[in-house]
Amino acid sequence: GMKEEIIMEKKGLLIVVSGPSGAGKGTICKTLARLNPDIKISISATTREPRRGETDGENYYFISKGNFEGMLQENALLEYAKVYDNYYGTPKKYVLENLEKGNDILLEIDIAGALQVKEKFQDGVFIFILPPSLEELKNRIVGRGTESEKDIEKRYGCAIEEIEQVIKYDYAVVNDDIERATKDVEAIIRAEKCKVTRV
Ligand code: 5GP
Repeated sequence: GMKEEIIMEKKGLLIVVSGPSGAGKGTICKTLARLNPDIKISISATTREPRRGETDGENYYFISKGNFEGMLQENALLEYAKVYDNYYGTPKKYVLENLEKGNDILLEIDIAGALQVKEKFQDGVFIFILPPSLEELKNRIVGRGTESEKDIEKRYGCAIEEIEQVIKYDYAVVNDDIERATKDVEAIIRAEKCKVTRV
């Protein structure tokens, strides 16, 4: 198109979404992907056990610790982090290939991972999802019913520390209403795609 011809090469937008456990970033990203089939979703590799209803190759690539270490050695991960005793990482190839093709790609990853990505892609857009309140955050972590009592406390404690990291992101979206929050994220993406300075 005109914009690409005149002011910049056509490259996809790298979208990074983070937020504490229970902020609802998973739901927002799923809704966003459903409404915007053009946005590619990066599937992470993890050493965590699948939860009920999760499918290998769909939610995550569920792999062994040995295989994860193998990927690290081969430099096959764009970033990785240890989250609640498990390893999570973004396979590099899929992300780079899509950006080159001009496709937008979304990574839903933790803060440590997002900061690693920020080092490599200054032109990415970094979005932080905030819960409406700390009380509501705890209710959501408990209500999900997928974690043990001990894990709930751990996730809630981490969440409070994590929220302070919002300052390192470009945008903060408060998830008090899933539809509105999803629309906010869509608006951010749309605006970023119109930016003149993005190359
Ligand atoms: P869960 O176990 O609930 O699926 O995810 C736990 C945390 O790991 C979430 O904050 C999620 O965003 C993060 N996560 C998922 N995939 C990745 C990844 O590839 N890299 C990093 N750094 N974090 C990830």
